Amino acid sequence: MKMSMLHCPTLKEAPREAEVPSHNLMLRAGYIRKEAAGIYSFLPLAVRSVQKISRIVQEELNAAGAQEVLLPTIQPAELWEESGRWEQYGPELLRVQDRKGADFCYAPTAEEVIVALVRRDVTSYRQLPVNLYQIATKFRDEIRPRAGLMRGREFIMKDGYSFDVDDEAAGKTYDAMYDAYHRIFERCGLAFRPVEADTGAIGGSRSHEFQVLAETGEDSIVSCGGCNYTANVEKAEVQSGHSGEQARGEQTLSTTETPGTTTVDEVATFLKTKPANVVKTLLFMADGAPVAALIRGDLELNEFKLKAALGADELEMAYATTGEELTGAPVGFAGPVELAKKGVRIVADHSLGGMKDFVCGANAKDMHHVGVNLGVDFSLEATSDLRVAQGGDPCGRCGEEFQFFRGIEVGHVFFLGTKYSEAMKCNYSDSEGGEHAMVMGCYGIGITRILAAAIEQNHDKFGIQWPVPLAPFEAVVLPLNQDDDEVREVAQKVYEGLKAAGIEVLIDDRDMRPGAKFNDSDLIGFPYQLVVGKRGLKEGAVEVKNRRTNEKTLVPVNDAVDLVSAQIVAAREGGSH
Ligand code: ATP
Ligand code: MG
Repeated sequence: MKMSMLHCPTLKEAPREAEVPSHNLMLRAGYIRKEAAGIYSFLPLAVRSVQKISRIVQEELNAAGAQEVLLPTIQPAELWEESGRWEQYGPELLRVQDRKGADFCYAPTAEEVIVALVRRDVTSYRQLPVNLYQIATKFRDEIRPRAGLMRGREFIMKDGYSFDVDDEAAGKTYDAMYDAYHRIFERCGLAFRPVEADTGAIGGSRSHEFQVLAETGEDSIVSCGGCNYTANVEKAEVQSGHSGEQARGEQTLSTTETPGTTTVDEVATFLKTKPANVVKTLLFMADGAPVAALIRGDLELNEFKLKAALGADELEMAYATTGEELTGAPVGFAGPVELAKKGVRIVADHSLGGMKDFVCGANAKDMHHVGVNLGVDFSLEATSDLRVAQGGDPCGRCGEEFQFFRGIEVGHVFFLGTKYSEAMKCNYSDSEGGEHAMVMGCYGIGITRILAAAIEQNHDKFGIQWPVPLAPFEAVVLPLNQDDDEVREVAQKVYEGLKAAGIEVLIDDRDMRPGAKFNDSDLIGFPYQLVVGKRGLKEGAVEVKNRRTNEKTLVPVNDAVDLVSAQIVAAREGGSH
């Protein structure tokens, strides 16, 4: 294709609203335009990349036994009432009415519709398993759409759903989908990690997120070099890091004034100590009863872990008023010594086990205790893993140090169990005629988020550095001197040669300065640039630039096509990470 015919309006200036590189570059390089907050039009280059991602997804899912369908984006409220989600889903669900006043919603996912579809036609164990997916536009009225395609309101998602006879069969399907996801992201040419994730409010027992590693990612991940255990920090298990014996202190408890210091940092600074020597006391209501949770001052408490450790169904931070009633002091001065005497249940993170002569709130305004020791001033039955994992923490599986990463969640596989099939009566009969709810899994991939994530991971200050499998075009031929017959002829020959070799190639036939052509090519991010200029041709050579490495090599005109197409074909399958 000729570049002069391509609708690719590049911009010189970085648009003001672009917060992250992918957003900035997709606007500047003419991939997307914003129509409203979180709602974008996709221009030709973006569509080509979206189609490439979709094709990889389709090939791998089809090979793994899933089949593509297309479900409605406007879905009837009745189905959502059956599952209970019409009530539960907050304002993220966009609700609309038709001309008769009937309620509908715009699909944020499609569990309800797929269950309705499957239960209608699948009734016997003989028809199972069923594994269906679609690639379709979703709408979520996100409270904070941000970073362009990273968190849009309208976006393209692959959503898949599987139905099996029992947990064992569903587990096998889950594993097959997990493996397919691995191959998908490998083929995209991205550096990624499958990460054990929290199962959250949906419940269920197995859940993995696929995270593309990038500094601008919203998610925090820790990974163990020893045993490869990788998890979202909200879920990652941390070893106690001490032998279980309580450290013996040398000081005895005293109480001191700490006027106006309510945060750990303020207390530590005032008392000329470290935050790691302060115990943070957080008050919660667990199933209606007060609980004090203790953690070392430099660490963060993980509410998911706390809830699990307490075995609580409901857990919320205690309101300021409840806290004041319990402690007799304003927020910021709670501490375990007096709370223990009052019989308030106290739980603590493993980090408490290693502390001695520490500081904690004295349950009185502007007062803290110093020289506090566990087993002397108050006691605990045991410590638990309650912290948000950090880099450097000991891995909960093997004890080696965790490394910290930032990631962008591009995919999620989730063992659903019978949540939807029970609520919506999606049953099958077994060989004896007994009725059972089908066991489900659901599997999402953020197709348009992958575009953003790929750019976050692959760019430099000049533009995008596409991995070959996702690039909208694999190569561009740049004739530098349009008015020179030889340059034009050689460029055309190279372009035709690449096309004949099956390479997706553009020729920049625009009458522009060489500098402007280079800039556009770097910005758009074609993986290979073949530069044809008078100077090179004097030596019978064209210059080949690899945009991933920015390496330039002079190649004899007659070898250029074979050399570049061989490299592109080799890179098409991704998997360099
Ligand atoms: P997040 O925690 O980022 O909001 P989620 O848990 O809501 O994601 P799922 O419901 O599992 O996401 O959706 C499946 C996939 O769809 C995600 O892994 C992500 O890649 C993509 N996705 C979710 N929300 C958005 C969005 N607002 N914009 C673009 N892609 C999204
Ligand atoms: Mg979400």
